Amino acid sequence: MTILDRFRLDGKVAVVTGANRGLGSAIATALGEAGAHVGLAARGAGETQENTGLPTGSGSKTAAARCDVTDPESIESAVAFFEETLGPIDIWINNAGITYWGPTLDADPAAGWKDILETNAGGVFNCSQIVGRRMAERGTGTIINIGSISGLIVNRPQWQAAYNASKAAVHHLTRSLAVELAPSGVRVNALAPGYIATDMVSDMFEVPGYKEEWIDRVPLKRAADPSEISSTAVFLASDASSFMTGSILVVDGGYVLT
Ligand code: NDP
Repeated sequence: MTILDRFRLDGKVAVVTGANRGLGSAIATALGEAGAHVGLAARGAGETQENTGLPTGSGSKTAAARCDVTDPESIESAVAFFEETLGPIDIWINNAGITYWGPTLDADPAAGWKDILETNAGGVFNCSQIVGRRMAERGTGTIINIGSISGLIVNRPQWQAAYNASKAAVHHLTRSLAVELAPSGVRVNALAPGYIATDMVSDMFEVPGYKEEWIDRVPLKRAADPSEISSTAVFLASDASSFMTGSILVVDGGYVLT
């Protein structure tokens, strides 16, 4: 086996939440290119398979299922569907997330706190519990959580206290689950990306006040392409990272250093 073989995911079953667009779609595509069978979990399942440009003829199967990460019943039924269509799940990517911008003192407690925590941190908890039970039973599996540099720093110029807190929770949930599930053969790691060119933020890259903070402050002077984050997800999903668990892998063009 060569070093590059250790990055391959041939025959593994991988599921991505929020897979219909943005980073989730890019990660699903990358996992398929690396050889995995890919389950596309999304709130509106109909469009997911078309939106993900998995290479045809690669031998990878795909399946799409409706899955709202705030709803344990919906996760259970998506997991059962993927197990039936693709096989037992080896890799689960907790990617789904939402944001809320606005001064904390004026924030609506539902949209500006509860919903953000329920989706970003609660969604990771719900999915990890349901999938983790199955992985622990089989004695193998890998969970990858999409955290953020917002779990490490306070972004500017936008105020987003709830989002920042939710991503810090994702990071420490990652570490906590890593230690708890290690004896069961399950690895748990997180990615902490900087700004990525997706729907969530890309409208703002050229806006005065934002460009200076989001782009000019980055040592590499740009945002990431989603493919630059999905490659690191393949690394964390593969045997190439077999000695990593509980790590928060920062992929941010150097942003948190400035
Ligand atoms: P997008 O807004 O483009 O995509 C978010 C995805 O999450 C969509 O597929 C959305 O589904 C899904 N989603 C939201 N809520 C739920 C839910 N309750 N159940 C299931 N799916 C849900 O954002 P990105 O692709 O940029 O973000 C992906 C992840 O990366 C998020 O966790 C985000 O916090 C994180 N991140 C993003 C950064 C960036 O700069 N873009 C930087 C660092 C981290 P639907 O289409 O139905 O709305």
